[in-house]
Amino acid sequence: MGGLGKGETAFIGYDELITEARILRYRKVSGKGGDQFQLVLDRTPFYAEGGGQVGDQGWLIQGADQVEVIDTKRENQLIVHFTKELPKDVTKPMTAQVHSQRRGLTARNHTATHLLHHALRKHLGTHVEQKGSLVAPDRLRFDISHFAKVTPEELATIEREVNAMVTDDIVFDDKRNVPIAEAKAMGAMALFGEKYGDNVRVVKFGPSVELCGGTHVPRTGVIGPFRIVSESALAAGIRRIEAITSVEAERMINEKLAKLEAIEVLLKNPADVVAAVQKLSEQNTALTKELEKAVKEKVKRLASSIPAKAKANAKGVKVLVEQLDLDQNGWRAGRATAIRPSLRVPIDGKPLLAVKLGKKDGKGLKAVDIIIDALGDQGRRRWPTRFRNGRRQGAEWHERGAEEGGGNSELIRCRSLVQASDSSVPSRSAVSQPSARLAEGTALLNA
Ligand SMILES: [Zn+2]
Repeated sequence: MGGLGKGETAFIGYDELITEARILRYRKVSGKGGDQFQLVLDRTPFYAEGGGQVGDQGWLIQGADQVEVIDTKRENQLIVHFTKELPKDVTKPMTAQVHSQRRGLTARNHTATHLLHHALRKHLGTHVEQKGSLVAPDRLRFDISHFAKVTPEELATIEREVNAMVTDDIVFDDKRNVPIAEAKAMGAMALFGEKYGDNVRVVKFGPSVELCGGTHVPRTGVIGPFRIVSESALAAGIRRIEAITSVEAERMINEKLAKLEAIEVLLKNPADVVAAVQKLSEQNTALTKELEKAVKEKVKRLASSIPAKAKANAKGVKVLVEQLDLDQNGWRAGRATAIRPSLRVPIDGKPLLAVKLGKKDGKGLKAVDIIIDALGDQGRRRWPTRFRNGRRQGAEWHERGAEEGGGNSELIRCRSLVQASDSSVPSRSAVSQPSARLAEGTALLNA
C-alpha cells in the first residue's frame, strides 16, 4: 500500500462510533465502476467485515467536506476503508464517523444470532453447531448442523425463547484479551475449524457465551421483536435459518396485521376469521362441484341434439356448423363424451376449429383439407404442411388422430381467425361454404 507512512490501526469501534483520525496510508484502485480509494487510519471506529458481520459505512469529515465510506474490510491486520474519493487534505486530521443507525441495526441482528444460537442448542440439542452466518442491518442468517427439518413447532419454541431473552433485557458483558484456555473454561462456544489467536474476546449475554469479535447491543431489550422468516436445507445435514429483528420485524408484523384486517373487512368482520375463511373455501369446493355437474349435463344435451341438426350438402355429406356456448371446463367435459372431437371452444380467446369425419364418410375426405378450406388462404398460410403431423409449433397446433372405425379428425388452434370471404369458397373438399360462418367456438360435425 503506498501512502503516508506506516503504523498499526487502533480499533475503537466497540466503544466509540466517532473519533479524530489521520490517514496512515492509502491507494487508488481503478476498476469497472470507476476509481476507488482504500484508506488506512491510525485509529478507527469502523468495523471491518468479519465473523459474518458486514463492514461499517459512514463518513470521513474535514470541516465542511465529507467523504462517504462505502465499506470496511480487513486486509491481513489492516482495517481498510473504501471510498469513492479522497479527503481534501490527506495529511490533515479528520473525523471518522460510523453510520450509527446502520451499525445499531446490525448490532441488534448480531446479538440476536447469539441468542438464536443459544436457543437452538437448548431446544434441538448440543449437536447444533454454527456453520456460517450473515449479520446485516436488515436481516440475519444462521446456518447450523442438524439432520432434520426444524419443525414449525420447534421454530415457534425457539422464537419464543429468543424473544423471552430480549424481554429479560440482559446486559451485554464482554471480556477482551482473554487467554483462549480461560475463555473455553468459561464455556464460550468456539467455531469448529476456526483459527483463534492466543487471546480472544468473550461475549456474554446471560447464558449465551461466545468467542466473538463482532459488535453488539448494550442490552438485549434494544433488539425489539425477533421473527424467524424461513428455515431451509442448505446441504446434507445443514439447515439455514433466516430471521429479522427491530424495525424490519415491526414492518413485517404490521404488514401481516394490515392484510388480516383487510380480510376481516372483506368478510364483514366475523368473530372468527379463520373459521370464516374455512367455511368460504368449503362452500367454494361444493359450488365448483355443482357447476362441473351442470356443465357435464349441458355437454350431454348438446351431444344428443347436435347430430340431428346436420344437413346434407350438394355432394351428400352431412355438415353442421354450430357456434357453441362452452367455456374451457365445458370443452374438457366434452372430451369425455362420444362427441369428443366435435366440440371445441376458444381457449384463451383463440378460436379452435374441429372437424370430425365419421367412419363412413364414403367420399375419401380428409379432415385436414376441410379445415384448410374452411380457413381459406389463411388456413394455408397458417397451417402449412409441416404442421400436419401433430407437432406443436409456436401458438399454433393441431391434433389429429384416427377415430375408432377408421374416421379421422383434425383440430387447429389459431392465433386469430379472419373470416374468409365468399370468394374463398372451398374447392378442395365437398364442404359447402363453411368458411363464411366460422367463428370462435365453431364446431364442425358430420353425422
Ligand atoms: Zn458473534
